[in-house]
Amino acid sequence: MAYYNKSRGSRGDKGSGKKRSSSFPYQNKARSGRRDFTASINPSKFISHASKSTQEVSYEITHKFTDFDFVDKLHANIKSRNYQIPSPIQDQAIPSILSGKDVIGLANTGTGKTAAFLLPTINKVYKNRTRTSVLILAPTRELAQQIDEQFRIFARNLDLYSVLIVGGTNIGRQISELRRSPHFIIATPGRAMDLLKRKNLSLESIGTFIVDEADRMLDMGFIRDLETIANQLPATRQTLFFSATMTPKIKQLTEKFLKHPDVISVKTADTSTNVDQDIIKVGTKEEKLDKLFDLLSQDEYEKVLLFGKTKFGVQRLSDTLTKRGFNSVAIHGNKSQSQRQNALKSFKTNRAKVLVATDVAARGLDIPNVSHVINFDQPATYEDYVHRIGRTGRGNATGIALTFVGA
Ligand code: AMP
Repeated sequence: MAYYNKSRGSRGDKGSGKKRSSSFPYQNKARSGRRDFTASINPSKFISHASKSTQEVSYEITHKFTDFDFVDKLHANIKSRNYQIPSPIQDQAIPSILSGKDVIGLANTGTGKTAAFLLPTINKVYKNRTRTSVLILAPTRELAQQIDEQFRIFARNLDLYSVLIVGGTNIGRQISELRRSPHFIIATPGRAMDLLKRKNLSLESIGTFIVDEADRMLDMGFIRDLETIANQLPATRQTLFFSATMTPKIKQLTEKFLKHPDVISVKTADTSTNVDQDIIKVGTKEEKLDKLFDLLSQDEYEKVLLFGKTKFGVQRLSDTLTKRGFNSVAIHGNKSQSQRQNALKSFKTNRAKVLVATDVAARGLDIPNVSHVINFDQPATYEDYVHRIGRTGRGNATGIALTFVGA
């Protein structure tokens, strides 16, 4: 896996290159003007040619995994995962976390941020042998699930246990798992609040608090829950806080939650720079569907993420595609947790060629090798657009994003 920081492209508004400081140079950047795009986005913003070759600046990695003071079993798990070198966020965050510092990581999905926080915390808990010591909050069930999957891989043979505290699954089982004092609690804020209120979740012995995708959490209205949870944690904990953007609201939260943090920024996206973007003009609804069928029939449309606006629309579109003989699955908020997991698995393992999703359901998902992102319905904001197209063209690859617009 190659890692790059990109210098600013024509529309780049985000930080670039290796930066490490204790101030907040990134505020007011990515989110500014968010509401300006809600009404309708100028179609010209959906057209851009990939320009990665001239824009890339290699990040210089300063550590090898073997440089990190991890226990042997953890090193063995990293090795069997086949990670060769640390990613930039891992390279910078792991030494800080190992030294016990609070960390703000400005990084988006695809940068390796999950291992950046999991590896040193797994090491810490294994060495200290404390019970129930890490609380990880993630905005969506899928993201929490992905973190748990990675945890299980990295914690193999270490005798460490996790519990996944998310909605849509059996709460009774989660309660009995909590009673066994797992070392890692990986939760979405809603279900964590539920269990706190029922007094099944106690936060007294949390030594490490990790917030993943904080900006998404705020977008989804979890700020109160986040604050309530943080207020119940011991003051002496270590806090690791990850967000793709540093808005004034996020800055406020970090000032409340963290003490003298190291700030590490490895933001790569503007995803736009390695995604070929174009529009497709269509008149009627029928024309739109016909055009979609045409595209999906082409061989190069190998693994397509299709975005729709509403849960109902997404399901209907997926059903229509299935009827037309395309192998399609859907994820949206009306699906149960296990249905969403099954859909995601089919798509990841290439059994389904098309995944139809709403913005919320697709957030933060790590789906490798998406060949095309198609915006069947336009996104509500330009920022949503950037998140959507960020699902393709990951790592070193060039992706393709197409957006349907009215003729
Ligand atoms: P994340 O940003 O944590 O969602 O990770 C994105 C993808 O990168 C995941 O599939 C990870 O398994 C993978 N990954 C993370 N760190 C490394 C690494 N050092 N070497 C290779 N792959 C990695």
